[in-house]
Amino acid sequence: MTVYEGFEPVIGLEVHAQLLTESKIFCACQTSFGAPPNSRTCPVCLGLPGALPVLNKKTVAYAVRMILAVGGEVRRSSSFARKNYFYPDLPKGYQISQYSRPVGSGGQVEYILSNGRKKACRINRIHLEEDAGKSLHPESGDPYTRLDFNRCGVPLLEIVTEPDIRSPEEAYAYLVKLKLILQHLEICSGDMEKGHLRCDANISVRPKGKKKLGSRTELKNLNSFRGVEKALDYEIRRQIKILKRGDEVERATLLWDENRQVALLMRTKEESEDYRYFREPDLPELVIENEWIEEIRQSLPEMPDAKIARFIEQYGIRRYDAELLTENRSLADYYENVMAHFDNGQTAANWMLTEILGLLSDAHEGIGTFKVSPRNTADLLNHVQNREISGRTAKEVFREMAQTGKSVSEIIERNGLKQITDEKKLRLEIEKVLEDNPEQLEQYRAGKTALFDYFIGQVMRRTGGRAEPETVNRLLKKILEGIKK
Ligand code: ADP
Ligand code: MG
Ligand code: ZN
Repeated sequence: MTVYEGFEPVIGLEVHAQLLTESKIFCACQTSFGAPPNSRTCPVCLGLPGALPVLNKKTVAYAVRMILAVGGEVRRSSSFARKNYFYPDLPKGYQISQYSRPVGSGGQVEYILSNGRKKACRINRIHLEEDAGKSLHPESGDPYTRLDFNRCGVPLLEIVTEPDIRSPEEAYAYLVKLKLILQHLEICSGDMEKGHLRCDANISVRPKGKKKLGSRTELKNLNSFRGVEKALDYEIRRQIKILKRGDEVERATLLWDENRQVALLMRTKEESEDYRYFREPDLPELVIENEWIEEIRQSLPEMPDAKIARFIEQYGIRRYDAELLTENRSLADYYENVMAHFDNGQTAANWMLTEILGLLSDAHEGIGTFKVSPRNTADLLNHVQNREISGRTAKEVFREMAQTGKSVSEIIERNGLKQITDEKKLRLEIEKVLEDNPEQLEQYRAGKTALFDYFIGQVMRRTGGRAEPETVNRLLKKILEGIKK
């Protein structure tokens, strides 16, 4: 943990999560990405006069899922507000957001720090709002800044914390956990690099032991979790320097420059009054029936912490492995589908975390498009457990399965890879080896017992590695003892 001699950082995060709905928040335009510029627009999201917004019910359902998942309270009756500001990518001249009565408040997100300590950050508010468009600034040869309004009106869920976070490392842990929750709820891809998750960080420092919060700045343009950590550390050090020389930190918005690793002043901070918020006159009060909230509560999936605990309990695997397997919902589902046809949890976990993740990372692929079905993976593991193939052969077979999508038995049959467990056959092989190596046998009988492994190696060679090692071991011991007498 970074220590800031004599000072304590205070951090509050505002995260914008892009919701995975098919259409925008106030119109029927598609949210799909990569579409030609301005092809996903209509009078509503372009803010043409007379066009009226209609709230997309799914965005509310998603907001409620998140609020319930963090143990917050869903406001039965909330409202939308206009946040007024001018920017070229904002054709309406205002953004529809929620202000004094957001749809959700309270609850908390728990996370574990690198030193193993558990912490919780309280949630201040969760609200719905619309995204703005995108300005594409001049590149070589093009003298114009071009505007793409496809993103106008894409639904965002803003999740604002209380100022509970005390270090850059903690901010990182919070974000990792928040992303995991959003992904488990299947309401946001959590992809920060693609801008599907955006984070603004509010930061102040105060002398250690002091209660009163210091004057804060806000950091924007943070586009990776590690970037957040680095930017916060930079800004904490800057503020400490200011306080140390007896000055005051000026309230400001700073832009993080990822390339130069410095924070640049964007504007001295506007107050919320500057936005001239007022109730959105074109949208009615958002009223959410208790019954619907309960329905959503019932449909909530198992959350990450509960899943980890269950994996440890149900499959008897190590905590660390359970954490890795549940890091991604598709991976966790895959594991459970393997376990529907296999009975050794730790063996399956090891296989997933080494073999499967290894193959996937080599191929830059996700588990979603992996060629081997969970059923076939279980089939392979059962073959190893029943000693029909060796562990080493299994890895080869698996690689072929991943390339071709073929079944285990198909590959084993065709390549003659089946392990030899038949004692009669193995006994014959051992006897041949001893016959072919009379000198070594003589030395062995004279006391050079290290030659035992040599004989094993020879049997393996004769059988192309297919002899089942344990049986060979046992039989060889027996035969050699018989010869000694
Ligand atoms: P604004 O209206 O300017 O957005 P909010 O009261 O909504 O301000 O707070 C925004 C974020 O800043 C919240 O996450 C909050 O926890 C955090 N915050 C508020 N005061 C401080 C402070 N003194 N130091 C650090 N973070 C703070
Ligand atoms: Mg705010
Ligand atoms: Zn539209």
